[in-house]
Amino acid sequence: MHKIVDDFSKTVVVPEQGIRLASEPEPKVREKYINELDRVLITKGCLDARIKGLAKEIEQGFADVDEITCVVVLKGGMFFAADLIRVLDERSKLRTRLDFIRCSSYGDRSYSSGSVQMYQLDAIDGKNVLLIEDIVDTGGTLKTLQNYLREKGKNFKTCVLLDKGIASSVKVDFIGFRIPRVFVGGYGLDYAGMYRGLPEIVVIKKELLK
Ligand code: 5GP
Ligand code: MG
Repeated sequence: MHKIVDDFSKTVVVPEQGIRLASEPEPKVREKYINELDRVLITKGCLDARIKGLAKEIEQGFADVDEITCVVVLKGGMFFAADLIRVLDERSKLRTRLDFIRCSSYGDRSYSSGSVQMYQLDAIDGKNVLLIEDIVDTGGTLKTLQNYLREKGKNFKTCVLLDKGIASSVKVDFIGFRIPRVFVGGYGLDYAGMYRGLPEIVVIKKELLK
């Protein structure tokens, strides 16, 4: 049974079985993915609700500025950023710009290779930067990105949708959900290129991972 959550004003701690809103039915894995996915961990309703909470936190975190440049880490952070930035523009006082950075450390495997490759980014010199990333695991990727961007941006903060809670070496200003140490997909996150389009966060079956 999924745990019912109703407070999305701060980081939500997600238990092993997953979470849903009281108004949502008990979530199930879609039939076509039944052999690959173990369970739904975070429903769409919970993602939407927490993004509204995050937008408030971000507005407070950037209290004395009126414009931020959102730098989205591709590809995983894409869906999260698309929703978050629209909520920021709709509900906060912040004016937003959008930019992308690409960084790859996993390839087709489920563990981090440790080395990070970085691609392209437009000029962010002197800007108030919000780095938007899908997930922190060991923190290696984020640390590399932060070191690269921090020296360029003026006011620099980081927002991550999911945190596996082991990355104590890296500082994250805004965290959506703290999740158990399982490999997740959906809502932009993939395993070997799959599951990005799912509207919820799902747990991929252990047998599938290499
Ligand atoms: P780290 O460098 O913190 O170990 O790994 C961070 C990167 O690995 C993230 O940006 C993300 O792309 C990927 N990653 C870490 N854990 C997961 C996971 O559970 N699922 C997916 N799809 N990607 C993950
Ligand atoms: Mg990533």
